Amino acid sequence: MPDVLVLVDHDGERVHKSTYELLAAARRLGDPIAVLAGTPGTSARLRDSLARHGAIGVFVAESSEAGEFLGSAAVNALQLAVRTVSPAAVLVSSTTDGKEVAGRLAARLDTGLLTDVVDLHPSGAVTQVVFGGAYTVRSEVTHGVPVIALRPGSFEPEEHPVQAVEHELVLPPIDPAASARVTARRPAVAGDRPPLTEASVVVSGGRGVGGADSFKVVEELADVLGGAVGASRAAVDAGYYPHQYQVGQTGKSVSPQLYIALGISGAIQHLAGMQTSKTIVAVNKDPDAPVFGVADYGVVGDLFSVAPQLTQEVAARRGVA
Ligand code: FAD
Repeated sequence: MPDVLVLVDHDGERVHKSTYELLAAARRLGDPIAVLAGTPGTSARLRDSLARHGAIGVFVAESSEAGEFLGSAAVNALQLAVRTVSPAAVLVSSTTDGKEVAGRLAARLDTGLLTDVVDLHPSGAVTQVVFGGAYTVRSEVTHGVPVIALRPGSFEPEEHPVQAVEHELVLPPIDPAASARVTARRPAVAGDRPPLTEASVVVSGGRGVGGADSFKVVEELADVLGGAVGASRAAVDAGYYPHQYQVGQTGKSVSPQLYIALGISGAIQHLAGMQTSKTIVAVNKDPDAPVFGVADYGVVGDLFSVAPQLTQEVAARRGVA
């Protein structure tokens, strides 16, 4: 079986769910080998969970400067790992950070890059969402090692315990002149909700929510479903909800099992970030809102009447007070 490299997405303490999805996807093409770039001690904390999800090897590149430069340690580690094992493919998450790493790596390797991939085929071809989600196409890299950025939520994470062999990668020092330095970090206040790109349920609010205070109606529905809260750009720009929760072309891409859009018209730029969701429910008082074109279930009505009833009903069925 050929090797398939998987870039580990993590926060130093915990492997993100999207990495387990990549490991499950990698098994379609060959034997997954994780590539982990982090500060010293990261591998000791994360190695076991990678092995539990099928990584037969872990390339470890630890250095004190790993978190100091945006993506550079990951790009260097992947480049060295590619040189070492000549993999069938390199998989990264199709997130903002993942796409940056993927683009830089593909440029360095002089190879092909496929982003916003939602399915992998054993032949090496992929299914990819393009033009802001307007089309789904089948693509293939015809030159070099394919660098593939997979959208979070496209594959189910699977436990597949194996013994992982660790290989140390000794990276060259990062060139500060060619890298963006991280000067400060302000962790997002996430509360108890799951991260937007990892949640299996996302409830998003749009301009129709009408204000920051009324976003409570969106949060209450998300909470009763154990989901994350998202927002349209109009809602974010109006200051109703923080920017990091924006879903869409210039926000986050999500593919949850269930996406509920409250007071969102369904502009193409919003759909680009959510239309690969498995089931879409839209609540809008305008029966002609474009969001109904992608919705599996649509409710024409006032969100302030519909959403609280839905919250109450779900709470009652789940036995939540
Ligand atoms: P609106 O289009 O104003 O829709 C509000 C909806 O709420 C209406 O359909 C209305 O009928 C409904 N409504 C009002 N009151 C109620 C009520 N009480 N109950 C039920 N329904 C109600 N947008 C994104 O979301 N994400 C992006 O990443 C993004 N990137 C962009 C990038 C570019 C380059 C550009 C040009 C635009 C981008 N946009 C993005 C903006 C996008 O074009 C839309 O302007 C935006 O998505 C509209 O947000 P909205 O649906 O919340 O607001």
